Amino acid sequence: MKVAKFGGTSLASANQIKKVCSIVTSDPERRIVIVSAPGKRFKDDVKVTDMLIACANAGLEKGNADSELQALVDRFAEIASELNVSDRVIEEIADDLRARVDSDKSDKGKYMDCLKAAGEDNCAKLVAAYLQSTGVDARYVNPGEAGLLLNDEYGNAQVLPKAYDNLKSLSDYSGITIFPGFFGHSLKGDVVTLPRGGSDISGSIVAAAVNADLYENFTDVDNIYSVNPNLINSPKPIRELTYREMRELSYAGFSVFHEEALVPVYNRGIPVCVKNTNNPSAPGTTIVPERSYIKEPVVGIASHDGFCFIYISKYLMNREVGFGRRVLQILEDEHISFDHMPSGIDNMSIIIKQNFLDEQMEKRIVERIKKELAVDDVSVVRNLALVVIVGEGMRNTRGITARASTSLAKAGINLEMISQGPSEVSMIFGVRAGESDKAVCALYNEFFNSQGTRI
Ligand code: ASP
Repeated sequence: MKVAKFGGTSLASANQIKKVCSIVTSDPERRIVIVSAPGKRFKDDVKVTDMLIACANAGLEKGNADSELQALVDRFAEIASELNVSDRVIEEIADDLRARVDSDKSDKGKYMDCLKAAGEDNCAKLVAAYLQSTGVDARYVNPGEAGLLLNDEYGNAQVLPKAYDNLKSLSDYSGITIFPGFFGHSLKGDVVTLPRGGSDISGSIVAAAVNADLYENFTDVDNIYSVNPNLINSPKPIRELTYREMRELSYAGFSVFHEEALVPVYNRGIPVCVKNTNNPSAPGTTIVPERSYIKEPVVGIASHDGFCFIYISKYLMNREVGFGRRVLQILEDEHISFDHMPSGIDNMSIIIKQNFLDEQMEKRIVERIKKELAVDDVSVVRNLALVVIVGEGMRNTRGITARASTSLAKAGINLEMISQGPSEVSMIFGVRAGESDKAVCALYNEFFNSQGTRI
């Protein structure tokens, strides 16, 4: 059995919803479908979720959200009438939206989440009604009633372990289940939403709960590319990659999935296939626990800026028991998490996200490191980017570091840092933020053996 999730652009209009339904009905294994809220129809369009947020803000701040509510009713009514579903469905959606807008506003987070969830919820009702109108055996299921239990952190909820057992029985239904993404219920029974982009997480939770053979994630690109397609013309598509490779690439800037989305399917070893609603016959990219066929050492290259380094040096650092712990304790006291910590015998640098470190915090940390650890030198270098090459094949290939650093040197890029984690799935190069695009292109040309031209 397959669980298929469709993103916002796949549900943005009646025409897109028809494509979704024909994809679903073309494969009898696609029995559970997770839907996002209608997204953008064109570049400057507004996503339904953003319209709902504007509506909630108007309700909370002005006490009147009439025009925002009308815009939402019109948006859904346009889709519904083009799908030719009965007027009753349109009325039900309008009533639902009105009831949410008029609901209790005393808890702002709760009110906001109740509205935000309306995009997915009504979209799912619409898709189910359309399938039924074409004679398909389909049902809408409310996530809260089905037992998708979340903690009560409004707008940023996390799944509770019990949800997996509760959702197991979704697979008992022989027809097609349409299940809205992005929200569930708290233990108190209130609607709570996952972080933005969270329908990916809902799909992954449901796929894990029913132990699906495959979790399909339909979006608007044919596949995941080996490098940002906004940077290099026609980059090489990735056919297959492992969860580990995907995690490294997402960390370094590939925005295909929500960061947490793969955890539930990863824990159960369920493969994920990314496919295009507008071109469903394209094979897409499959993410698997292990890859059997590894020909090229590198599958993808990504970069992410907004980092800074705290550089520390002290003679005989390696002999001082507890030195690292005391440095990290200072960061912990300031509630700062670190990303990497490459070290030499007498020096280390700690790489953290720059937005964690304002000027005052930098001053406090530097002073404490000087005073409490009696270091020879401590300095902070800002505006750095991390460029990452990723591939399971790097582990068994010699000379990768040499090839990468030579290609960067030839492109005139100064390396601030090199780091390779023990799993050897990725190698990270710290460069000046303004040089990261140039670095990615140099590495792409080296490892993909092509003259990928920059856009
Ligand atoms: N509709 C929600 C958002 O725009 C969730 C999702 O699409 O995944 O963030």
